[in-house]
Amino acid sequence: MIRLYNTAIRAKQDFVPVNPDRVTMYVCGPTVYGRAHIGNFRPAVVFDVLQRLLRHRFGADKVIYARNITDIDDKIMDKARAEGVAIEVITERYEALYLEDAATLGVERPDLHPHATTSIPAMIGMIELLVAKGHAYAAEGHVLFDVASHADYGQLSRRPLDEMIAGARVEVAPYKKNPADFVLWKPSSKDQAGWPSPWGRGRPGWHIECSAMIAESLGTTIDIHGGGIDLTFPHHENECAQSACAHDGAPLANVWMHNGFLNFGGDGKMSKSLGNVLSVGDLTEAGWSGDELRLALLSAHYRQPLTWDTALLGQVRARLDKWLRKLGDVPKGVRPLPPVSVVEALADDLNTPAALAAIAGVESDRDALLGALAFLGLPSLGPERSRSAAEMRGLADDEETAAVDALVAARTAARLAKNWAESDRIRDALLARGIVLEDGPAGTTWRAA
Ligand SMILES: [Zn+2]
Repeated sequence: MIRLYNTAIRAKQDFVPVNPDRVTMYVCGPTVYGRAHIGNFRPAVVFDVLQRLLRHRFGADKVIYARNITDIDDKIMDKARAEGVAIEVITERYEALYLEDAATLGVERPDLHPHATTSIPAMIGMIELLVAKGHAYAAEGHVLFDVASHADYGQLSRRPLDEMIAGARVEVAPYKKNPADFVLWKPSSKDQAGWPSPWGRGRPGWHIECSAMIAESLGTTIDIHGGGIDLTFPHHENECAQSACAHDGAPLANVWMHNGFLNFGGDGKMSKSLGNVLSVGDLTEAGWSGDELRLALLSAHYRQPLTWDTALLGQVRARLDKWLRKLGDVPKGVRPLPPVSVVEALADDLNTPAALAAIAGVESDRDALLGALAFLGLPSLGPERSRSAAEMRGLADDEETAAVDALVAARTAARLAKNWAESDRIRDALLARGIVLEDGPAGTTWRAA
């Protein structure tokens, strides 16, 4: 059983997807107007580990993971104006850099990456629904969400309304009924990017983008919604409100997960002059590998803050050097299954420090070590860009992989019951199918011979 900490209830709970054949996860992706820094990649890496764990548990093709690209935003428009180019020039440049940096860190491409600008009709449709249901109102070319119309507003972030209003006062505008009301649609001038709408030419607010992209790409209620802790309020609170109000109270997500910040500073070497935090490109140019950066991002529990400095990277390098030396030359292709102890640690709310400790415990077993590190997604050990469990293990398809998994589990049960005849029978049956089993201290792994 996978257990996850759910921000909505401030507790860990068993993870039970609505439909185990279609597990849905959405993570708020980058706004592409500049190169992301290493801290921006913590959610990308953390939720990449989670999607691997979910595929391991539910099946490689049973998980649909979407991470959006916010490609319309005032910061993008400002950057485009400063450079005298169209917004697409900016968004395509920084999306490409984001994907390149993510690949360096071993982050697999999500199944879906909806772009805000290609989901505008879905956003307009949802805003129309909110207006029709009395949860939003148009004023001076804007459409605003009426916070007072939704009694549950503030529940996710557990903020008292007066605090939210105080926080929103910076955005006081004469057309708002309540200072906490937030923008769903805003007008664009002739020289600004915009789309026709029932309220005039304009563009969506950031929060409605995610609500609409989730409904369009994954459905009304998803299993897991993730993002950085800084998004809890207002972004996720507003996503929650919009989606529940548009969908007659159906919750947007059953589990809300938030990762903590990276703390910079320490030795001061992780920032450039002017205080800009280093990008993945800066760090690899400085000699750190994608493996080291990924492992460093996973060295603390995802909900805890992580102090990012050269001391951390140095420790990770020493640990990884030792492991990679034990592995020696690793050919591309088939990877052993991860040891049970590592999977169990990750199943406990993605406890990566415990998983790394479990790896240290099995490091004398080369296959277990390789299986564990590949499962954690280290770029140099990961399979070729493919996430099919069948391909990972050299089989024809995922169905066959699931059948072999079931037989291996049956054999483990037989061994635990000391039914050696049955255990040997299953081993021989698998061998006849070209599957080789290996029993190690961390459990049984298998591969196609
Ligand atoms: Zn979002």
